[in-house]
Amino acid sequence: MNQFEQQIDQYLDLDYGITARQAIVEQLYNAVSKAAMKSLSFSEQSGKKGCYFSAEFLLGRLIYSNLLNLGLLERCRTYLNQNGFDAGVFESIDDDALGNGGLGRLAACFLDSAATHGIPLNGFGIRYKYGLFHQYFQDGFQKETADDWLKAGDPWGIRGESEAVTVKFADQTVRAIPYDMPVIGYGGNTVNRLRLWQAEPLSAFDFEQFNLQKYDEAVEERIRAEEITAVLYPNDDTPAGKQLRLKQQYFFTSASLQSLVKEFLQKHGESFSHFPKEFAIQLNDTHPVIAIPELLRILMEEHQLSFDEAFPIVRDTFAYTNHTIMAEALEKWEVSLFLTVAPQVYPYVVLLQNALNREIKERNIEQQDKAALQIISGGQIHMARLAVYASHATNGVAKIHSELLKSNVLPEWYRMYPERFQNKTNGITQRRWLALCNQELSGFINERIGNGWVTDLNQLKRLTAYLDDSASLAQFREIKRQKKIQLCNHVRIHEYGFELNPDFIFDVQIKRLHEYKRQLLNAFSILDIYFAIKDGTLTDFTPTAFLFGAKAAPGYRRAKGIIKFINEIARLISADPEVKDKLQVLFVQNYNVSYAEKLIPAADVSEQISTAGTEASGTGNMKLMLNGAVTLGTLDGANIEIVEQAGEENNYIFGATVDEIAQLSNTYHPKALYESNPRIRRVVDTLIDGTLDDGDTGLFRELYDSLLKGVSWHKPDQYYLLQDFESYCEAKLRANRDYRNAEEFSHKCLANTARAGYFSSDRTVREYAQEIWGI
Ligand SMILES: *Cc1c(COP(=O)(O)O)cnc(C)c1O
Repeated sequence: MNQFEQQIDQYLDLDYGITARQAIVEQLYNAVSKAAMKSLSFSEQSGKKGCYFSAEFLLGRLIYSNLLNLGLLERCRTYLNQNGFDAGVFESIDDDALGNGGLGRLAACFLDSAATHGIPLNGFGIRYKYGLFHQYFQDGFQKETADDWLKAGDPWGIRGESEAVTVKFADQTVRAIPYDMPVIGYGGNTVNRLRLWQAEPLSAFDFEQFNLQKYDEAVEERIRAEEITAVLYPNDDTPAGKQLRLKQQYFFTSASLQSLVKEFLQKHGESFSHFPKEFAIQLNDTHPVIAIPELLRILMEEHQLSFDEAFPIVRDTFAYTNHTIMAEALEKWEVSLFLTVAPQVYPYVVLLQNALNREIKERNIEQQDKAALQIISGGQIHMARLAVYASHATNGVAKIHSELLKSNVLPEWYRMYPERFQNKTNGITQRRWLALCNQELSGFINERIGNGWVTDLNQLKRLTAYLDDSASLAQFREIKRQKKIQLCNHVRIHEYGFELNPDFIFDVQIKRLHEYKRQLLNAFSILDIYFAIKDGTLTDFTPTAFLFGAKAAPGYRRAKGIIKFINEIARLISADPEVKDKLQVLFVQNYNVSYAEKLIPAADVSEQISTAGTEASGTGNMKLMLNGAVTLGTLDGANIEIVEQAGEENNYIFGATVDEIAQLSNTYHPKALYESNPRIRRVVDTLIDGTLDDGDTGLFRELYDSLLKGVSWHKPDQYYLLQDFESYCEAKLRANRDYRNAEEFSHKCLANTARAGYFSSDRTVREYAQEIWGI
């Protein structure tokens, strides 16, 4: 037997005193992971290093992807089989879910891509004890339970006791302990690092030393320290104005900067002007932006640099990625709250504000721009403004999003610093999102163009030679069917025996639940189809399963109402024998990275239907495209670039454009659409006419009012569902009809796969390295 297999046996023996055949899953998981860790060769990172600061890393399940990248996946499978286990045993191990959605998943894809291409990029974040909550449905309502992801152990995380630092807050001082995870590039040649910080009390408590009084204090201190990294905030695209969240942000950025400064001092001594040549720090959204004044503080207070010496160093070190154009989601902190967390940092925010004021004076800025060019304003600190001002690059995450940043979100800042604004269209790693999750399609591709695409996704272009090859298209369809059957089997187990029909079209909308993503519009279109089938006005409908996956932030009432609404539609439809051979609706529970890996390869239609101008980029759209689904979507975010690459004729685009929405916004009258269009009226009325039941919670009535009446803080139908309803239904039915021509439809699907090369995060990370980091 070879080293790797022997190592597994050794760990099982050493740690548990058992053989593989006696092991339970958690024991096997730990032993296999440790054996894989043992095989790593850490390479010295030379030259400038990228540092990715992110409050979220949505890694998913690590074991299979690490084994894939190490070239050990097959050997592990054989080993498991030989010892009486299925290769899928580790599917019972929880995901690493230290993130909410796209933003955290992007961070994970970047780490994989950088390591694969030998780019020295390390991640810095928080080791939450509890990641994103688990979701289940009770009576169609979302329920949450804690994500105790460490219960199976954390074999990939190495505690770095000797590299602990301390972080000071207004009301406490804590120890930050790093847990380092290897980030293994494909081929195993480069191993980068993800450093996650955990908060602990300064002093380990010692029973002997303490009297009872002191014991109580020590317990209290421990609880208050551990609270800082206890839970991930489950908000996505909504700000959480909570002191604890700011504490988390300061905790991990201060600890990360301290460890970087320490490393720098060892290498270069106090010659800090060299700092930006050693480190490039990318701020993933505003969550880590407090790092900017913190580095300024460290340089000035602890190393006696003047402001004029320190500020250029800070500016040249940091770069900022914006992830949202929705004003209400831009992070701001009350000065008063900020002072209760990190009062020692606040004077450095003021220094930056003063320098900004001097610059505004020198530059003769237009009066009308001045108000928006304030970091501290109305008693609040505007984190995005701070980031643009005190960094050298600001980027959006898709072409249209980067344009909207310049024209709508930060126009005054763009006029002041046009050279700082850039675009970096998001991407996804094809290792996880094709090689790992769709081995059947990978095999199909390898047979035709070899496996170079695994590290160079543009090679998929060579598949265009097969777009009109009937035999290839038939094989492609057969693979899709296999992936559907696999999903059906998974669903049967995980969704109370639900029998999904693999002969149906799989129409998939998977993403966080948010009004702007318009799951409610999808729901209305399904009701419209249902009524049309019942009425006999839609007779040529290709049977379709509508699949949803989404978590709603626990405090987001409307999002939870939409989940209940869709679950009630599912109930209505499954109880109606008249449509059971035509329609299925299923909202899967606990959508996460691992579920995504099962849903995406099985999808025929990818629902990307956000209101134009609201989704910064999307990355789910790219995963589905790569796996050969057509996009049914609006011209929003990266959808625009997807159809640019794959052709509008191979996708289903509908709805108002960004410009049309802007034109409409002052005159939009959804009530008139409702009153004049009986199809709209019928589906919207199901919210209140007793067709569907929300259990007397008032949730459906509130959704109804949000569409037709509006409330104090927004106009009716602020996301233009009713505006886009007809063109959406039309596009959906067009796709539905087209599907019947199997050959033509699979041509479209394969065209999407063939032209997905641009959306590799390998490309994105290279652009960051070259155009922002100088690596
Ligand atoms: C990719 C991914 C997302 C992002 O999906 P969008 O459709 O881009 O919002 C969210 N959650 C999970 C689990 C993902 O894998």
